[in-house]
Amino acid sequence: MVKAVVGANWGDEGKGKITDMLAEKADYIVRFQGGANAGHTIVNDYGKFALHTLPSGVFYGHTTSVIGNGVALNIPILFNEIKSITDKGVPMPKIAVSNRAQIVMPYHILFDQYEEERLGKASFGSTKSGIAPFYSDKYAKIGFQVSELFDDELLEEKIPRVCAQKNVLLEHLYHKDPIDEKELLNTLHEYRDMIAPYVTDVSLLLNQALKDNKTILLEGQLGTLKDPDHGIYPMVTSSSTLAAYGAIGAGLPPYEIKQIVTVCKAYSSAVGAGAFVSEIFGDEADELRRRGGDGGEFGATTGRPRRMGWFDCVASKYGCRLQGTTDVAFTVLDVLGYLDEIPVCVAYEIDGKQTTEFPVTADLNKAKPVLQKLPGWKCEIRGIKDYDALPENCRNYIEFIEERIGYPITMVSNGPGRSDIIYRNK
Ligand code: GDP
Repeated sequence: MVKAVVGANWGDEGKGKITDMLAEKADYIVRFQGGANAGHTIVNDYGKFALHTLPSGVFYGHTTSVIGNGVALNIPILFNEIKSITDKGVPMPKIAVSNRAQIVMPYHILFDQYEEERLGKASFGSTKSGIAPFYSDKYAKIGFQVSELFDDELLEEKIPRVCAQKNVLLEHLYHKDPIDEKELLNTLHEYRDMIAPYVTDVSLLLNQALKDNKTILLEGQLGTLKDPDHGIYPMVTSSSTLAAYGAIGAGLPPYEIKQIVTVCKAYSSAVGAGAFVSEIFGDEADELRRRGGDGGEFGATTGRPRRMGWFDCVASKYGCRLQGTTDVAFTVLDVLGYLDEIPVCVAYEIDGKQTTEFPVTADLNKAKPVLQKLPGWKCEIRGIKDYDALPENCRNYIEFIEERIGYPITMVSNGPGRSDIIYRNK
């Protein structure tokens, strides 16, 4: 069986924790898109970890961690990540990297930086991990697949061909040094040696696993609103963040994805530029940011303070629909225990009209939040295991949101740890 864990919003919903939890009963945990540009924060018995490339299930001895063909693979980062966890006493994980995954090249990272500098105020707020230049090259068909690292004849022909084009931009658009082709070939040889032990035909591996009745968990990065097709284009990421893409980015039949757990955080946060209708500012935002997540809402990859906002029913309903949600995991609810009243964005007002349907970007930029205040519960809810033991106002908050988004909240997360979870039978 295949399950997916994906985000409903802008990312940072707490997917890492939910995946880590569901991974206990899974055999393969698969990254199917994105790169090292976002991170998951996971707290477990070994300590606290920020993962950027490895799937969250990497801490279990029984799972295989899989990097699918859809991923933007940064080989040195993957390596350092493996080292960082084994250095802290985690047993060496089983890892399979798709022979069809493509490689983030050193020049992708440079192009990302140079382009953001060139754009100045109009920049995307990129994490400068090379993701947009990487996917541009993939679709322009000048990317490098993992399998190509093992073919010197191909590399010797392809490197000069690709560099010829890159160097024009480097010299004339960005006024930087051109790529040294010899150095690049050496780097790719180093990458080849680093990745060799893990290279696998991932689609074949996973399809065989299905025949053997194994459980495969697809782990999404970011959330619906960052999807290049259905998100807040152009302030999106460069690969699809939707569960449906899990079939492509891992080489699995789409009809095998039976459960889609969409993670929604009990309030909103976003990184990077782009419309964020329920955003809050000043002291109100600072307090939520400081109390949020586990030790504050700051980027796992960049340390940047996240933009904060109230729960957005319009964006989350849309986010859940596009994912094809079967279950909502409602996270970080414990954080809201300090508020007397909790505002929730229940609709958008656009040109004087109210709507609960998420609009295209031009309209989104004009949208103003319609807020409704719900009574807070004013107490600590960490440690509670039964839904019925939650304070009444807390249950009302969950059920109010569930009704507005239209998908069943079957899991409520009330703390960062693996066991801080309340299951609801729906
Ligand atoms: P991801 O990218 O979607 O995995 O999100 P993050 O890594 O940014 O996770 C959000 C943060 O919230 C992390 O620091 C988690 O440890 C933390 N977290 C996850 N679930 C909960 C929860 O229910 N309560 C609290 N307080 N923190 C949580």
